Amino acid sequence: MKKENLETASLTEMEKGDKRIDRDWLLLHYKTTIGVVVFAVIVECLLSLLFVGSDLVTIPTERYIFKYIAVPSSLNFICIGVETWALRSKYLSQEQKIYTVSLVFVFICFVLFCVHSRLTAIYYIFTGAIMLTTIYADYWLTSITAAMSIISIAVSEIFIRWNPMKPYVFDSMLEFGDFLVSILVLFAFSAACMVVIRFEKKKNEASYQKEIERYELKQSINRDELTGIYNRKAMHEALGALEEQDSFETCILATADIDYFKGINDSWGHSAGDWCLKEFARILTENERHYTPFRYGGDEFCLLFENVTMEEAVSICDRIRRQVEELSLKDHPQIKLTASFGLAAYAPYIDATRLFIHSDHALYDAKKLRNSICIYEKDRLEKSQWMK
Ligand code: GH3
Ligand code: MG
Repeated sequence: MKKENLETASLTEMEKGDKRIDRDWLLLHYKTTIGVVVFAVIVECLLSLLFVGSDLVTIPTERYIFKYIAVPSSLNFICIGVETWALRSKYLSQEQKIYTVSLVFVFICFVLFCVHSRLTAIYYIFTGAIMLTTIYADYWLTSITAAMSIISIAVSEIFIRWNPMKPYVFDSMLEFGDFLVSILVLFAFSAACMVVIRFEKKKNEASYQKEIERYELKQSINRDELTGIYNRKAMHEALGALEEQDSFETCILATADIDYFKGINDSWGHSAGDWCLKEFARILTENERHYTPFRYGGDEFCLLFENVTMEEAVSICDRIRRQVEELSLKDHPQIKLTASFGLAAYAPYIDATRLFIHSDHALYDAKKLRNSICIYEKDRLEKSQWMK
């Protein structure tokens, strides 16, 4: 596998993990907005019990309930409806859902702020809306949420006078100063969130890099240096993994060995021998739709088939055998390469080691003819089947 592909595969895995975290966080984000809305309704009801009838409330009870409970609660529950629709929508991407929930939350804050702006502390409800976006590590999302929060405060303070008892922002320097300080605090808070995102991104990049290195190392440990296909260690791991799963029962193991390979090395040198091994591995890779090829060692290779019948496995091995036979090496056209194959299928009560031993026995029989395929049978000396 090329380095770029390795990195892509590794990154894809990590991106999937990140998306899963974002999805979980989005759900929590959504639940938080529901919590805020429900909490606000409860507090508004309790406040109405305390204040209605006191000197603090100068308007009739029905009007108070309409203005401070019915209207904000209805608007906020409509917002929850929009968020629920967005989260369940098949047409919105995850990113669009995140933006929807974040901005709808700002609108919920806006409604609560308009209604209760007499309480100075209510400014800080917007910090929650901004802070909850930092987990997504998206500068744009946090910037837009912060900008919308600041605009909401400005609009509410300048254009909306829900509570006529609240002094107007331009009434006195104190009110105006209060307004400016709140906006500045929100700016500073947003800037701090950006710094948090920057470091969060740096941390993520470092883990991505580490993950790529770990993946590359794992790949290099499991790959054969000369041919690039999986090595003996990878084969044991693959067989071990199959043994742990039920799929072991669908396994067929073929062991292939190049015929008279020592002679090729002796006559044409080791580099010609290496060429033969690489070409043999190339043919195995080209045919690998139904199996995983491994270089077991020297000129011996293994093919691990899954979910194919013995006839199909034999037919694939035969195709490989013929392709090897037809192989012509550019620098050494005199070399005629052939290979022998031994196949064994899973049988009850055998383990991975035994499966390998069976395929090796079948290979031993195939080597009697060479350039042939042999299937392991229980009573192999009488029943071995040769194909040529
Ligand atoms: P048979 O038909 O019975 O398989 O005979 P063979 O000559 O192929 O004998 P065998 O399979 O035992 O020989 C394997 C040889 O492969 C022995 C070793 O010198 C050679 N070999 C092992 N690894 C490499 C390698 O990486 N490159 C090269 N060029 N040769 C190797
Ligand atoms: Mg050999």
